[in-house]
Amino acid sequence: MTKAMIAENIQRIKSIISRTAAKVGRNPDDIKLVAVSKRFPPRSIIDACTSGHYLFGENYIQEVISKKEAIPSQASIHFIGHLQTNKAKIAAEYCDMIETVDRFKLGKALNKHLDKQAKKLDILVQVNIGEDPVKSGVDRDNTEGLLEQLSTLSRLRICGLMTMVPLVNEPEQSRIHFRRLRQLCVEMQRKGLFPEVSTPELSMGMSNDFQIAVEEGATIVRIGTAIFGKRLS
Ligand SMILES: *Cc1c(COP(=O)(O)O)cnc(C)c1O
Repeated sequence: MTKAMIAENIQRIKSIISRTAAKVGRNPDDIKLVAVSKRFPPRSIIDACTSGHYLFGENYIQEVISKKEAIPSQASIHFIGHLQTNKAKIAAEYCDMIETVDRFKLGKALNKHLDKQAKKLDILVQVNIGEDPVKSGVDRDNTEGLLEQLSTLSRLRICGLMTMVPLVNEPEQSRIHFRRLRQLCVEMQRKGLFPEVSTPELSMGMSNDFQIAVEEGATIVRIGTAIFGKRLS
């Protein structure tokens, strides 16, 4: 992708988000676009930054390390991949949000490193809402318990929920999962499990189904292919 194409793709997606939000009576400013730059070189991130976009998603800690020093300091990185406990330190240091906290052990590892740096970190809890055997995430029924455990960790700001829905042929098939995540989020909020935020984040929707996610209440959409093109690996 050339720089101009990346800029154009980001603009196009932002306008689709705005239009879709308007259609369902939502404020487009309540929806953040995470440009998923995994498997693309730092150059792609720099090109997106040049066009005025500064929020990125990365799946692999090695890539976070190598890109962090090559990209503009204003660029924020959300970690969206499966995070091993032994990589928690780097993730806590280099990323602005970890969207994939799915177990207490990982929360504790993050908290330990954050304690040393005396800083707080935004996190989302990843829920396996579609009960997909090949996806990470806490089960729906164990989400409340995990949120309660994580709330004891003073360095984590629990901002909301994230999900990756099962792979489907038709984007419309994702809707039921998005709706269920939103319902779960509302229920958890009612129980006071997001005490540090006024409105919890819902990170859901990717290149093929983000419009449906926006219709169903997504506040963060994570889009790779539709911005940067097909990944090589
Ligand atoms: C790769 C990835 C995305 C982006 O997927 P696209 O289909 O390329 O938009 C979003 N979220 C997560 C967790 C991913 O791993």
